[in-house]
Amino acid sequence: MRLLDGKAMSATLRAEIAEEVKQFVTQTGITPCLAAVLVGDDPASQVYVRNKEKACAQVGMKSRLYRLGADTTQEQLLSLVSELNADTEVHGILIQLPLPRQIDEKTVLDSVSPDKDVDAFHPANVGLILQGRPRFLPCTPFGIQEMLKRYGVETSGRHVVVLGRSDIVGKPMAAMMVQKMAGADATVTICHSRTRDLPAVTRLGDILIVAIGRPKFVTADMVKPGAVVIDVGINRTDAGLVGDVDFDAVKEIASAITPVPGGVGPLTITMLLGNTLRAAKLIIDN
Ligand code: NDP
Repeated sequence: MRLLDGKAMSATLRAEIAEEVKQFVTQTGITPCLAAVLVGDDPASQVYVRNKEKACAQVGMKSRLYRLGADTTQEQLLSLVSELNADTEVHGILIQLPLPRQIDEKTVLDSVSPDKDVDAFHPANVGLILQGRPRFLPCTPFGIQEMLKRYGVETSGRHVVVLGRSDIVGKPMAAMMVQKMAGADATVTICHSRTRDLPAVTRLGDILIVAIGRPKFVTADMVKPGAVVIDVGINRTDAGLVGDVDFDAVKEIASAITPVPGGVGPLTITMLLGNTLRAAKLIIDN
């Protein structure tokens, strides 16, 4: 069994991005800049945003944090997004989720300029992904695809089963793996809470990607022997942080598996850095 080490891969990728940022700044005089918007005081969101800021600094990029109170209205937030869309010094915009109840998430995410949408949530960017000509790729699926490539996991012609159909992970992951291109070309199945005889479906996966948010849900009997298992889940339990996969049992039959923590998690912020650099480059190219 091979352990797919997202932490080590993330360090390598960040060093590569830092080098690219350095070259870009030398050539253009422009430093890529990510604007993060945090509304309210959700403790987990504060940690995520702080980590994103630190990561930007680590690769030589700028970041700005906009903190708004929990009672912020939708109009106030839309007005800030509109300012950031027009700000030529900002290349990527990140709206930290979840947003407070009085704000409609979709309306706000749709208001982010597709050219600065480094999370790739805007419908225009989702459409481009589906058509196989992405502007940005969503960070978590992007990290997973990069991990499969760099570990030399063949995807062409193989059966990728994606468990979970969220807009953030499951759906874009499936859309990416089905594309006619390197690092994809897979036969793809998506399954979810309404899937009948789920173990029979997950057992079809040569590569099984799990993103459901249920601690240790995927047990050994749900996995094809020799499969590559990617665990996206991050679940806080009394026993600490655990994934959606029962790691100890599944590692005995998988050919490769991601740990939690230290698997997919570290790659997500790294891909956000890559997307912010890309956003800055796209402005120069246009
Ligand atoms: P969502 O909660 O948005 O979606 C969960 C999906 O799992 C849904 O499609 C749901 O089905 C399906 N599901 C839930 N329970 C079952 C079940 N018992 N059997 C089959 N399918 C089920 O999840 P996200 O994609 O946002 O997140 C999933 C996990 O990944 C979470 O633990 C989250 O914390 C983690 N995550 C980690 C990231 C990282 O950086 N590593 C980034 C993003 C998420 P249905 O649609 O039918 O309801």
